[in-house]
Amino acid sequence: MKIALLGPPGSGKGTQGAMLRESFSIPHISSGDLLRAAVEAGSELGDQAKGYMDKGQLVPSELVIGMIRERVAENDCTGGYLLDGFPRTVEQAEKLESMVGANGHAVDHVVALEVEEDKVVERLSGRRSCPECGRLYHVSFQPPRSDGICDDCGAELMIRDDDREETIRKRLEVYRRQTAPLLDFYEKAAILRIVDGDAAPAEVAEQVLAAVREEDD
Ligand code: AMP
Repeated sequence: MKIALLGPPGSGKGTQGAMLRESFSIPHISSGDLLRAAVEAGSELGDQAKGYMDKGQLVPSELVIGMIRERVAENDCTGGYLLDGFPRTVEQAEKLESMVGANGHAVDHVVALEVEEDKVVERLSGRRSCPECGRLYHVSFQPPRSDGICDDCGAELMIRDDDREETIRKRLEVYRRQTAPLLDFYEKAAILRIVDGDAAPAEVAEQVLAAVREEDD
């Protein structure tokens, strides 16, 4: 099962990705998480990527494609994978096909989460994450038991550098201009399903699962 999750920043790809990983026992590969780990580790890739990420721009494709190529070649991906945040441009989608395409398609299902822009801003500006375990919270919709502290590991929660309102607006503009054309690309390939991402996470998860299973029938 090879799934790609699409949708604007804040549409719930990370939350849905974590749920789908459990349902299908496939690795959840988030290009944003991989890039943030590279920045944290101070690797050459991280140093090159950081400036773009802080400004809400896309990291140049050749850097991201190399990183994903290595990740999908790992052993845990032989039974499939769930891509979150990649591909983000038509160019990346074409490269992905040529990367894995020799042994079948690189993606069997594409699920796009649709959420209104104002909702996205509200979600992202209240988002907090745990730097230790990656668990996600929201100050109003999903607060931790104790203010600013992760329920699971007790670490102090952080705000992502790019979750500030000005950068969020920039990321949305980048999504509209560079990523939304991917919907057409996958629509033409007849593997796109659109899911309303506005509902509660568990409800969205049900719709995502139904979309993927329906196509397999
Ligand atoms: P995300 O966590 O998916 O919102 O990604 C955070 C940031 O990482 C984005 O705003 C981009 O700067 C960068 N990024 C993540 N995935 C990609 C990608 N596929 N192509 C280019 N840049 C990416």
